[in-house]
Amino acid sequence: MLNFIKPIELIKTSGNILILTHKNPDGDAVGSVLGLGLMLDGLDKNNRVILKDEVPKVLEFLPGREKIKYAEDLADDDLIGAGYDLVILVDCAELERTGIREVNKIIESSKNLLIIDHHPEREIKEESFYNVAKIVNSESSSTAEMLFELFAEMKIKITKEIAQCLLTGIFTDTGGFQHANVSPRTLEVAAELMKKGPRINKIAQNIFNSKSIPAIKIWGRVLARVKVDSESGMSISYIDKQDIKECGASYDELSGVVNIINTISDSKFSLLLTEYQDQKIRGSLRSEEYKGVDVSKIAQDLGGGGHKLASGFELRGSIKESLEFIRGKLRK
Ligand code: 5GP
Ligand code: MN
Repeated sequence: MLNFIKPIELIKTSGNILILTHKNPDGDAVGSVLGLGLMLDGLDKNNRVILKDEVPKVLEFLPGREKIKYAEDLADDDLIGAGYDLVILVDCAELERTGIREVNKIIESSKNLLIIDHHPEREIKEESFYNVAKIVNSESSSTAEMLFELFAEMKIKITKEIAQCLLTGIFTDTGGFQHANVSPRTLEVAAELMKKGPRINKIAQNIFNSKSIPAIKIWGRVLARVKVDSESGMSISYIDKQDIKECGASYDELSGVVNIINTISDSKFSLLLTEYQDQKIRGSLRSEEYKGVDVSKIAQDLGGGGHKLASGFELRGSIKESLEFIRGKLRK
């Protein structure tokens, strides 16, 4: 049983709340910050959402997105000196993962930190300096599913807008209810959320089925390049800056393509490397339960993290150098 007492107490006694999540926010991150923000609006609590990176286009249909401010657009005074009673960090447990440079100062200016996350727990080194409460459940499909449980415990009336945000978070983190993280409870929660009005077909339409021509072209390049490493059993593909430019695509349009690579049943796990800036590489790892590989271990070894079957990391260097480095690590 999760201990909701301290977190609920913290939320109830705070008047000015800041909501943060990880950089490169996905559907669960955006759905969770907005669902939480709209819930706090309903309690008449002053709250704001500050992100490092832009919300992907496919998530722009979510209600409440006008609440979102970007760290780089805010003056220091506004960002750090706002005197929050509580900072709530969702869908990640490490302050550094917010990508916001001033995050430590922000937390210092606040009295309390609450972490709500479904990633396997890791120590936060700053912990001793703050009053930290955590709700962490790595068995949960998504942070959005955890928020549903928290709101139920708080007896919150879930509006259609809140339901839309949470259902989208669950939908994206489960790959449309396909992944191993779907439990009977996940479907019960999704059913409760649907009763408030949102439709799954509409969410699927926005997230999976509304691609641009550049997106289809860049997916084509990823798929055409796939190779399976005989030594490691890894299926691998990559995209560099030139590809993005030539296809006219944006980086967030690559979201989901690694799952297609991961359908190769002869491989143990899959990797997509993306050069998102000069000499900066992002890696996405995926596997399937039946393949028996824990990709979070590989990601951690490369300085990243995530879940057993879906993880990520960042490296410096070229695609070629990164791949050699990764192969070296895999040999060990
Ligand atoms: P994706 O491949 O979709 O970017 O990420 C898959 C999963 O890995 C997500 O749960 C995400 O939170 C996690 N992840 C991705 N990149 C990183 C990273 O650089 N560090 C950590 N700790 N987790 C990551
Ligand atoms: Mn998540």
